Amino acid sequence: MIDELVEQLRDRPLIDHHVHGAWLSDGDRSRFENALNEGSTDPLPGWDSGFDNQLGFAIRAHCAPVLDLEPHAAADAYWQRRTSLGEAEVARRFLSAAGVSDWLVDTGFPGETCEPEELAALSGAHDHRVIRLESLAEQAIADSANYAEAFPALLEATITQEQAVGMKTVAAYRTGFDLDWSEPAAGSVVEAAARWRDSGGRRLTDPVLINFGIRSALALQKRRGGLPLQFHVGFGDRDEDLHRTDPLLLLPLLREFADASICLLHCYPFERQAGYLAQAFAGVYLDVGLAINYLGARSPSLIARSLEVAPFGKLLYSSDAYGPAELHLLGAHLWRSGTAQVLSHFVERGEWSTTDALRVAGMIGSENARRLYRL
Ligand SMILES: [Zn+2]
Repeated sequence: MIDELVEQLRDRPLIDHHVHGAWLSDGDRSRFENALNEGSTDPLPGWDSGFDNQLGFAIRAHCAPVLDLEPHAAADAYWQRRTSLGEAEVARRFLSAAGVSDWLVDTGFPGETCEPEELAALSGAHDHRVIRLESLAEQAIADSANYAEAFPALLEATITQEQAVGMKTVAAYRTGFDLDWSEPAAGSVVEAAARWRDSGGRRLTDPVLINFGIRSALALQKRRGGLPLQFHVGFGDRDEDLHRTDPLLLLPLLREFADASICLLHCYPFERQAGYLAQAFAGVYLDVGLAINYLGARSPSLIARSLEVAPFGKLLYSSDAYGPAELHLLGAHLWRSGTAQVLSHFVERGEWSTTDALRVAGMIGSENARRLYRL
């Protein structure tokens, strides 16, 4: 049963609805190993190896064969082979092996990673852009003395110009979700913008302006249709106060915008709370991307938890890959194998039919995203 499902899922292209660029230029081993730790951006201590965790083991198991190595190749052999091929060839192999038809790329986190067009060209897939609110806010404050009008105008102009299919907020990193979500008075937006500008207008952390940005995005979504708003939720680096990113803290906002299209990204370790919100609000969707890669051999348990109370039409696939293209492939591979494992267990116990299992896998893998983002 599980083999049949794995085979069926392997042939079906995925829509990766939240991803970043891949590296194309060569780097050293510490860059690579640091990229296998989401929580810390510090260099690893000398005694530790970036490979000695679930993600590192999953890379050696599932990525090594794509580089012509045996599964579970040793870390040193893996690194040597990777280096001899070069980052661009490594990226080409992993991206084309991922079986993704559409990449929805968050371009708001600049770094050494490639552009959405390069991701598409290397994998023979389509690329689409997602606009990050806080990066745009930081441009708007620099260019205009009239922020309250300038930000919504810049947001709409950017969406049109980039033909973006969605928007994203990193409020989780900037303020957390325990905000006063009530509508800020016009005067308080103007005052907060003036304060921010006077302090140099760099990284946006003002709760009034974070709330204003999200409300501007939801107003635009209502007017134009489509354009779901993605929220980073849960698992991330330690800059974030993880305990303040429980998505239940979004309840006041979700009650006010009960029909808005909102995607809760990653969600770990709050995937059950996110699943409940997806049941409670017509427009709320979730994925368990990023954490699937980090849980490696334990990722089927996370996929199983995402299939508890959330309606099946509200689940999405993402890798949240950034940097090494192993992550773009591994997200897809572990999602396919974990989903096949969880669903085949339902079928074997007589709870689900094979037809239903395949239908739900198709919904999560691509159909829900195609409908939601109007691809
Ligand atoms: Zn991301």
